[in-house]
Amino acid sequence: MRVRNKPWAKDKIEQHPQYIVANPEQYKGKWHEVFENDQPLHIEVGTGKGQFITEMAKANPTINYMGIEVYDSVIVIALDRLIEADVPNLRLLHVNASDLEKYFTKNDVDRVYLNFSDPWPKSRHEKRRLTYKDFLTFYEDIMVDGGEIHFKTDNQGLFEYSLMSFSKYGLLLKYVSLDLHKSDFEGNIMTEYEEKFSGMGSRIYRCEVKYQN
Ligand code: SAM
Repeated sequence: MRVRNKPWAKDKIEQHPQYIVANPEQYKGKWHEVFENDQPLHIEVGTGKGQFITEMAKANPTINYMGIEVYDSVIVIALDRLIEADVPNLRLLHVNASDLEKYFTKNDVDRVYLNFSDPWPKSRHEKRRLTYKDFLTFYEDIMVDGGEIHFKTDNQGLFEYSLMSFSKYGLLLKYVSLDLHKSDFEGNIMTEYEEKFSGMGSRIYRCEVKYQN
């Protein structure tokens, strides 16, 4: 995601620890303390500007949500959205997904959303794709048994790669759509990228996969 550098972003993040969790490692295994309830926790890895996760939190108040984003210049836009929405069941985490195990432990998370993840089309960058096997291990290590990944993209190459990666890993394919917006799937909440690419006529791919542990 190309976003202009914002030198003030770091300060703004630090000024809002109630929305972008400060010192997240202290909540490993006890995220219910942050939300002050025992609701399930669904995370979006690579949340970008936060439209999807904010709308999901508004629509589903009995689920806790967390948007994870590595770039400070992007997460501050999600922060503005969260401040305006002021929903109690949503937080943001400013970390890299490859460090998830520092902040979460087994059973902390019930579902992972991956929306329009960067495709990294060159094979030498395969390990950076958020559906690469090492990431599937990171998600498994922090999720409940039988946890699910819900994945959307406009990128056919990444979708096909991801289906292969899920399958090789032993994940169960629960749902697949090769044209989400023309399917009978109900309750779809659009991400920023989804609005942009479907508006340009791109087809949206979606799948749900489940760990079989
Ligand atoms: N999910 C949003 C959407 O659909 O509109 C944003 C999609 S954007 C193409 C991908 C986002 O994932 C970027 O904001 C990027 O910074 C973030 N991202 C990529 N790799 C990441 C990682 N390892 N950890 C956390 N965020 C990551």
